[in-house]
Amino acid sequence: MNKKIIVVTGGSRGIGAAAAQLAAMRGYSVCISYLHNRQAAEEIVAAIRNTGGNAIAVAADVAQEQDVIRLFETVDNFFGTIDALVNNAGILEHQMRVDEMDSARLNRIFATNVTGSFLCAREAVRRMSTRHGGKGGAIVNLSSIASRLGAPGEYVDYAASKGAIDTLTIGLAKEVAAEGIRVNAVRPGVIYTDIHVSGGEPGRVERVKDAVPMKRGGDALEVANAVLWLLSDDASYTTGSFIDVTGGR
Ligand code: NAP
Repeated sequence: MNKKIIVVTGGSRGIGAAAAQLAAMRGYSVCISYLHNRQAAEEIVAAIRNTGGNAIAVAADVAQEQDVIRLFETVDNFFGTIDALVNNAGILEHQMRVDEMDSARLNRIFATNVTGSFLCAREAVRRMSTRHGGKGGAIVNLSSIASRLGAPGEYVDYAASKGAIDTLTIGLAKEVAAEGIRVNAVRPGVIYTDIHVSGGEPGRVERVKDAVPMKRGGDALEVANAVLWLLSDDASYTTGSFIDVTGGR
């Protein structure tokens, strides 16, 4: 099998699902990971296979180190050595002020959004870096425009976790630039996905869209297009960079 191989964490729904399907259309063999939603993951795998692509789904909590190790070993065994990682799995919790947040919530947010992205990046670098005998590759992290705006009154914890993703992107990009790996990030604005249900406001995009210069929310595919460009050879001199997919916000 000589197709490029990609891991998309949190590929069962939303932006990850769109990125996984677009990657398959661009010729990647795709491994999506998910947390609980097996049916949604299997539907994405079936959709990819129905159009002639290669895909598998692995249940793996990115916040759990052993799960992350098992995820990447599964890909090694099923497809071979990866060429690309999309660090997409991310969560937010119900809107509240910082003066209402407890440590359990903060630990959940940072464990998934930050530790999870670091662990997956580690496994990818161990496989792709020329320093480790690999042939190079590309990583795209899903940050958020919240890292710039701060999400006051909603989820400053989430915004801060995305600030950490921005710093991971800058630091890791420089760390592995001479080892054949490019590391970039996409910072979406308000995108129509289920994540706003997790935040306790399913209609959030409708509420805030008038504050977007383009006066609309974004579609997951519009984010996936930026992700796939950063992964592609068209972005061969681009590393440590950010694409804001925000409708101008
Ligand atoms: P979503 O619709 O809520 O989907 C989240 C995905 O991540 C699902 O596939 C979920 O799996 C998976 N996931 C959650 N926790 C996980 C864990 N611990 N381990 C492995 N997988 C896990 O989210 P989305 O809106 O597509 O967001 C994707 C990324 O874009 C996130 O990093 C988010 O912060 C970022 N982003 C989104 C927006 C937006 O407006 N939507 C804006 C800026 C940034 P299950 O299906 O099993 O639950």
